[in-house]
Amino acid sequence: MKYSFPYLGNVMVYKKLREMLGHEVIVPPRPTQKTIDLGTKHSPEFACFPYKVLMGNYIEACERGAEIIVSSGGHGPCRAGFYGELHERTLHQIGYDVEVIIFDSVKRDLKGDISKFLKIKGKTSFAKVIGVARIVLTMLKDLDRFDKEIHKIMPYEKVPGTSQKVFERISDEYEKCWTLDEVRRANSLARDMIASIDVHHIDEEEKIRIGVVGEIFVVIESSINLEIENTLCNLGCEAERSQYVGEWVDHNFFGKGREKEIIKMGSEYIKIIIGGHAKQNVGHIVDYSKRGFDGVVHLMPFACLPELVSQSVIPRISELNGIPVLTLAIDEQTGKANSLTRIEAFVDLIRNSKRKRIAANK
Ligand code: SF4
Repeated sequence: MKYSFPYLGNVMVYKKLREMLGHEVIVPPRPTQKTIDLGTKHSPEFACFPYKVLMGNYIEACERGAEIIVSSGGHGPCRAGFYGELHERTLHQIGYDVEVIIFDSVKRDLKGDISKFLKIKGKTSFAKVIGVARIVLTMLKDLDRFDKEIHKIMPYEKVPGTSQKVFERISDEYEKCWTLDEVRRANSLARDMIASIDVHHIDEEEKIRIGVVGEIFVVIESSINLEIENTLCNLGCEAERSQYVGEWVDHNFFGKGREKEIIKMGSEYIKIIIGGHAKQNVGHIVDYSKRGFDGVVHLMPFACLPELVSQSVIPRISELNGIPVLTLAIDEQTGKANSLTRIEAFVDLIRNSKRKRIAANK
């Protein structure tokens, strides 16, 4: 059977996971305007933007021969819990004989998840699955960490584009790994590569740090979020996302990481679970403020109810915590030039007020 998955973040790791389990893998293409157009054509108009991108991406995977698509879903008030079923039905209606396997919630439907897991596992032994999971999770977390570091360095690089190329080379090194020892070697090589990037010296107080929060899919997938981290770095700011796939796995499967603490910070502003990552997002804004960040970009997919609610409380959070927040609505109609102008203006305002503050303190 030919396995595929949605294009989200560093897909090399998912490809590796399936290959190590002995599956034939169909890597979906990175989302483009064609993906969005295809998804929009085959989706209800009121569906949220990530639904449409996934729809287009699944069709492209089916065009390449995918027979099983494995993805995560959701539960609770957000509509993500219905999406796997709707996607599968639409794919059947347009003529693709494909099965969509969705892991909705690890904690809520253990029995269902075990049977899906056994199906994917096939004849592979449990010992091998555990070994593969360890290798892939280490890769995932390493790459997340390097991704974070790269976006701290990129604004100061002497030769534009160096950090991006280094990250691509790091990804290539990890793609060659099949054992934990090879992953450890790739890790040390990656550290050396990052340390060799030539950067301008900038005083700490002059550095501008921007956090990126919002719905998980648009925050992680750069092809549909105006390459937000690179865009901010090109404007001279360090950028840090609130969500990384490795952290999501750590929290959802092992209960690790800072998510509980972040949710606690968000609970002050959104008391109940309203779906998606709304609570986490407002918590992250408070956290960025406490960590001395200069601003936050909030990415809100069109028709996303959880993010619509968080958008309504953001002005108060921004005022109480003294941190500016720019909300960008993302959908199939998003004009790139318009959004870029807004981001540039936002960064200019932050830079000017920071300069004034530094001058006043001297
Ligand atoms: S969080 Fe928002 S964008 Fe994401 S699936 Fe739910 S409703 Fe859609």
